[in-house]
Amino acid sequence: MPSTTQTSTSAPQAKVAQAPALQTAARSPASTTKFDLKWSPVAGEVAPIIEVCPLQYGKTWAYSVEIDDGPASTLSVVAPLLEGFSFSDAPPGMSGGKAHPFVGGAAIYLARFDSGNPTLLSRKDTALLRARGWGMLNHSYWHSGNHWDKTQANTPEQFRRELFWSQCLWPDVVGGGRAATHFVYPNGDPGYGKYLSEFGLASASRVGGASPHRADGSAVWGDLDRNYLDEGVWSQSNNALAGLSESPKAGDFTIDFTHGIEAPGSINYKRWQTRLEHIAGKWGAKGEDSLWCAPTDAVVDYARAAAVARVSAKVGGVHVELPPDVPGSALTLHLRGLDKRAHLVAPVGGALFRQGDQAWITTPVLGQVGVKPPAKLKCVWRGPVGDVTLDALHKIAGVRVLQQGDAGTQWKMSIQVGSEGGPLTEIVAPDKAVLGQGWGTWQLFPIVPDRQAITAQSIHATPNKVFAQMEVWVLDE
Ligand SMILES: [Zn+2]
Repeated sequence: MPSTTQTSTSAPQAKVAQAPALQTAARSPASTTKFDLKWSPVAGEVAPIIEVCPLQYGKTWAYSVEIDDGPASTLSVVAPLLEGFSFSDAPPGMSGGKAHPFVGGAAIYLARFDSGNPTLLSRKDTALLRARGWGMLNHSYWHSGNHWDKTQANTPEQFRRELFWSQCLWPDVVGGGRAATHFVYPNGDPGYGKYLSEFGLASASRVGGASPHRADGSAVWGDLDRNYLDEGVWSQSNNALAGLSESPKAGDFTIDFTHGIEAPGSINYKRWQTRLEHIAGKWGAKGEDSLWCAPTDAVVDYARAAAVARVSAKVGGVHVELPPDVPGSALTLHLRGLDKRAHLVAPVGGALFRQGDQAWITTPVLGQVGVKPPAKLKCVWRGPVGDVTLDALHKIAGVRVLQQGDAGTQWKMSIQVGSEGGPLTEIVAPDKAVLGQGWGTWQLFPIVPDRQAITAQSIHATPNKVFAQMEVWVLDE
């Protein structure tokens, strides 16, 4: 269990700073929200009937794997294991599809991400995972909050601070250009639920979630349930197929969750192999090929986009449009009554399958993947902890320092900010000044969203040999 602490400040009112829209590029090379596929009309052709498939590639059900807390084994063990299994981009029952490996989602909390701790994921690792089709799921900044222990319960300000900072740093620190759409409840605490939409998060998951296992209109996106597959729990049932449906129905959505998969050859690894062999053998490319395996955020983004996409078909073409504020997704279109003589060409970055008078067209990603962060922040200074003079006056949003060692129980952290010759303001709350141990922890001392950003050019931070680095984050206005 993670044990990072959350920095608090004295001001009780949370006020989220407003910032202009992000200009950065999304993961999709073309961020257009429109898609057209045209063909030469043939004599006597009538417009086909068009609808958006409930799941990508016209698949029957969706399967996601979530790895909690960002262990390095996500890249070294889990990704290679999942990649041993595949589904195709063809609709169930049709041959000729391109194979896609099974992938998962990494739930990351930023206090312990890219912190020099070799047992945890780094930025380089998440870039590699992304390139292999993995999703990055927001798991807060500090991993605070606990609904079953009142002494660790978060206040509304703490929930907001967690969501504000994790979403604001996400585009830069975790990468991908935009903030996350899916949240994983730290300690399973659903107390975050009512604040999610304020910070652009559309869905969340935990063990014991109230949602039926569906990826359609009946889903409770903010309370998705998942199978708890940590070895200690899983070994008790001794059932490799625990929580799996024997015959998934159209629109079903299963999420498996663990804090990690143990080394190849271990009992835990073999249990996973048995489970994945069953899933892939029955519903993957070598079986019915009815399964879509994707990160949780991709499944939810798809379902939400499918629900609001405007589609039309006419003689010689189809048109799709996503409302501009919807997180980007590919979409699979199903055409019926298509003239068999019509010559359709698969879209670049998508797929096309035909059978009789039907066609399934998967578009490239439409729109921008992810969401705009709640405020646009940028890091204007990165270097050793100490006295810093910035290039100009900036609106300081917060400072974070990378701790790699034991700062003791007496030593106190101080960070003062101000302008040259002017008064200095201490930004480390008195109850957060003693840092104790931190073997790879990004200690964050926030000013926003609880208070207004402080306009300053000088930063005076108390150095300590346990610090590896300091970052100064400002409002980018
Ligand atoms: Zn966690």
